[in-house]
Amino acid sequence: MTTIVKKNILKLKESSTLAINEKSKQLIEEGKKIYRFGFGQSPFQIPEKIVEKLRQNAFKKEYLPIQGLPELREKISKYLFLRTGIKYPKENILITPGSKEAMLLMHVTFNGEILTPAPSWVSYEPQAEIGRNKVHWLETSRENNWFPTAKELENKLRKISKKKNIILILNSPNNPSGAICKNLKELAIVAKKYKLIILSDEIYTDLSFDNDYKSISKFYPAHTFISGGLSKWCGAGGWRLGFLAVPNGSKQFMKSLKSLASESYSTVNTPTQFAAVEAYEGDYEDYKLKVRAILNAVGNYVYNHLKSNKILITPPQGAFYLMPEFRSKKFKSSSQLCDTILNETGVAMLPGSDFGFHPKKMLTRLSYTDFDGIEFFRNISDYKSISEEMVKMYAPNVVEGTTKLSNWAKNL
Ligand code: PMP
Ligand code: GLU
Repeated sequence: MTTIVKKNILKLKESSTLAINEKSKQLIEEGKKIYRFGFGQSPFQIPEKIVEKLRQNAFKKEYLPIQGLPELREKISKYLFLRTGIKYPKENILITPGSKEAMLLMHVTFNGEILTPAPSWVSYEPQAEIGRNKVHWLETSRENNWFPTAKELENKLRKISKKKNIILILNSPNNPSGAICKNLKELAIVAKKYKLIILSDEIYTDLSFDNDYKSISKFYPAHTFISGGLSKWCGAGGWRLGFLAVPNGSKQFMKSLKSLASESYSTVNTPTQFAAVEAYEGDYEDYKLKVRAILNAVGNYVYNHLKSNKILITPPQGAFYLMPEFRSKKFKSSSQLCDTILNETGVAMLPGSDFGFHPKKMLTRLSYTDFDGIEFFRNISDYKSISEEMVKMYAPNVVEGTTKLSNWAKNL
């Protein structure tokens, strides 16, 4: 019998982020000392008031509307308006089980092609393939902070058929580079000229270390879609609560998204949506300031202790990732490099090839979240000056793994 799996699905592997998480756990269970720099998950506690709301609403068992709890959509609308100055009314917001699902539905619905910078998060390309949308990669460079310049974007667009609809995916702060896009305005001008649709993945934007929420929607509101959710800033990855905000004039698109939602997950679970109302309406600025300060301090520790003539690295700017590049000709691919590092040092990372780079580029993604965020958070009083001593005390695995990695690279 021929395979019963569709061709485009057969090609998919398990997402490498989730796979490295499981592999790291398994190695730890086998008794190995592993530094979990592979998976990107917030180490912090969800604010207690939000957890309390979940407890209070646990008894609610009725299905909510397909599009999501109106009150929650209203709060997200306000939250976006405060940060971007752009109105995404509640009718334009869809609540999804994680923003990953929102993006998948967008790919399934969309008729056109996808343009995404390298580096980009691991799931964009497979999701586009599931949606049968062709993917174009736009390579970026360290000199330009790992984002495309307006000129690079325009050059690439000239090579792509003008007859197609195109979505450009932008993610800032970026997974995997940890960089923040500084030229949103220039990119918006090109986007407007070529009538692009932008998917602005703002899942990490509240984790910008300069404490400034920047969104391209401000410069190009007519065609910017925004995805976001509770997974990163709020530490609630496992709650699976995300959203997609569509620009005005996307009624038909939203109608199709809702049909897909109704035929797949129906609606997001009720108690979590009620708890999320608190997350978007309450004042969590102090919590976010602390979380950002700790991540900034830990990220800078890793950056300062890794950068050398053997490891090139861009300073941390947001989210919880860094992208070390190893100056070595010993390895066939970044994947072989990561396997060797894991075997020889216990440091788990992901290869740059998972994020759109040529396998021969010795780039890796390092997530600096292998620490007890609850303990660290509890023990800082003055988050304006987090010393290296505190990083050593509250993020010992990150410190030890960094030392191992840095010593390993000396012998390259
Ligand atoms: N975008 C990026 C860049 C991410 O790193 C993640 C986290 N895996 C997501 C989107 C999806 O997050 P979630 O589905 O938890 O909202
Ligand atoms: N965002 C996380 C990462 O890139 C993991 C979660 C996921 O990929 O869904 O490691």
